[in-house]
Amino acid sequence: MKIAFASGKGGTGKTTVATNLAYMASRAGESVAYLDCDVEEPNGHIFLKPEIDDTRPVTIPIPKVDESACDYCGECGEICQYGAIVPLPNKVLVFADMCHGCGGCSLVCHSGAITEVGHKIGKVEVGRSGAINFVHGLLDIGQVMSPPVIKAVQEAAPLTDLVIVDAPPGTSCPVIESVHDSDFVVLVTEPTPFGLNDLKLAVEMIRALELRFGVVINRADVGDDETVLYCRSNHIEILAEIPDDRRIAEVYSRGELVCQALPEYESLFTSVLTGVMRSVM
Ligand code: SF4
Ligand code: SF4
Repeated sequence: MKIAFASGKGGTGKTTVATNLAYMASRAGESVAYLDCDVEEPNGHIFLKPEIDDTRPVTIPIPKVDESACDYCGECGEICQYGAIVPLPNKVLVFADMCHGCGGCSLVCHSGAITEVGHKIGKVEVGRSGAINFVHGLLDIGQVMSPPVIKAVQEAAPLTDLVIVDAPPGTSCPVIESVHDSDFVVLVTEPTPFGLNDLKLAVEMIRALELRFGVVINRADVGDDETVLYCRSNHIEILAEIPDDRRIAEVYSRGELVCQALPEYESLFTSVLTGVMRSVM
């Protein structure tokens, strides 16, 4: 089973819920993989403290032009939607950091002047946190193409009974790449007007993907009850409501797991997993 944790905006507690569920499931004897797909700013490692034993580069194919075979016809520049290859009258410029690795330019090049070479955009690190299989991706500074790194994270996941995917915040391509093949998506939100607005966007995205989902409301006793009313009127299951407990914030700021530091919260996090199983089965 693959469960993704997503949120319409950052800072809602998505990683807190995902890491604590991975911990609780592994403690219950499940074989678990935790995949941190928030490759622009992964932070699951802060809480799970994995020992990394393998690092793999992530590359995308970018064009390399053999000028001796090029007749400067300009077709490569016409097909590229990103301005990453620019044919001049007697030179072809390639801007590697703007290339999306789509392969379009090499397909249209009638003279065979374009070959593809790997361009590193990030890396994947694989390790273990106790019994949890840990994988996270890191996009190189200055790079913008996170989906290939997210895909590499997913591909590096070992075979386990349960896969926990910590998706990036928002509703754009990286989120879709992270959650699209999940059995269930847990949307983590806060009961504030901004949180509700972003939750609605996330719900629209998940419904468009036709995925099953539920909501966890974090810091449930701040803000108003609009989020609860929205979920009820839209038949969205609220899997758990996590209270605004200062001790949770302190545990978070120390980089610890809530369920380890505050065992009284074990049943609350386990109830999220139980709710997901109930929905999926
Ligand atoms: S399509 Fe090929 S031949 Fe034409 S300008 Fe580009 S590299 Fe040169
Ligand atoms: S591979 Fe695609 S994105 Fe990259 S330069 Fe060629 S056409 Fe442009």
